[in-house]
Amino acid sequence: MFDLFQSYLFPWREFFVFLSFAFGACIGSFLNVCIYRIPRELSVVKPRSFCPNCNTPIPWYNNIPLFTYLFLRGKSKCCDREISFRYFLVEAITAVLFLLVWLKFDLLPGSRALGLVPITDWRLVPVYWLVVSGLILGTFVDFEHLIIPDRVTLGGIVSGIILSFALPSLHLEDSHIISLLYALLGTLVGGGMLWGLAIFGKMLFHKDAMGFGDVKLLGALGAFLGTKAVFFNVLISSLIGSIAGVSLILAKKQTMQSRIPYGPYIAFAAIIWILWGTTIWDAYINMFIPPEITPPDPTIISPNPQLYIN
Ligand SMILES: [Zn+2]
Repeated sequence: MFDLFQSYLFPWREFFVFLSFAFGACIGSFLNVCIYRIPRELSVVKPRSFCPNCNTPIPWYNNIPLFTYLFLRGKSKCCDREISFRYFLVEAITAVLFLLVWLKFDLLPGSRALGLVPITDWRLVPVYWLVVSGLILGTFVDFEHLIIPDRVTLGGIVSGIILSFALPSLHLEDSHIISLLYALLGTLVGGGMLWGLAIFGKMLFHKDAMGFGDVKLLGALGAFLGTKAVFFNVLISSLIGSIAGVSLILAKKQTMQSRIPYGPYIAFAAIIWILWGTTIWDAYINMFIPPEITPPDPTIISPNPQLYIN
């Protein structure tokens, strides 16, 4: 299947690289709609896009991902007010991440750039696109509202478990049942670890150090990515989170008492895992294993035998 797909689509390689970027930008545009509407409990499909300042519907030609923002120089056409830079940022991040996920698969073994961990099953590409989209949605809602929508977290747990059963390659398995068990284990370990941390944090600081949304988010990631990804995530997200937290306090943008969204750090660590996870993991594990010393092969006659004496 893989070889067939590769040989058939290879001549279109550059086109697919471009297409994954453009598709990502379009999905990013939709995510912007979701980021605005889901916390306000508005429908994400109806009505069509409108200006958040003056409620004028936006015609399609002024709603082209990435281009519109650049073309209109960040001002809305209808009421000449500033369009939030977030619109451009979300479209750009989604486009780049969709492209990187595509490059994980690409069409030729050995052609993968940037040290990305390869995917051999092309069906995982849309699954990772889904995960990336959920993470971007959760991150930007968390930044603005300090909540992560249940549609992302609970929706993620349910779809992660179903997709793990349907596509065992998600957990590098052949058996549907074992893949399902890995997803369930990942959910329990992911949710459980952060739940434990949340209770511990509350005991320590006598306030909610971590939202329950973060607990559910890591549970969802456990379902999609497995237990190893969860351990990696707790390590990396807490490291980056504490560096960012301390710098914000030092820069006097936050105080010790203010609640800092943790979801974005979980999302960031998860994206690092999806793109480069096992490479980093193996490098880390190898740091603790002493390098094997191979004794000189006695069958090879050394041109300089003195080298091997002592
Ligand atoms: Zn307007």
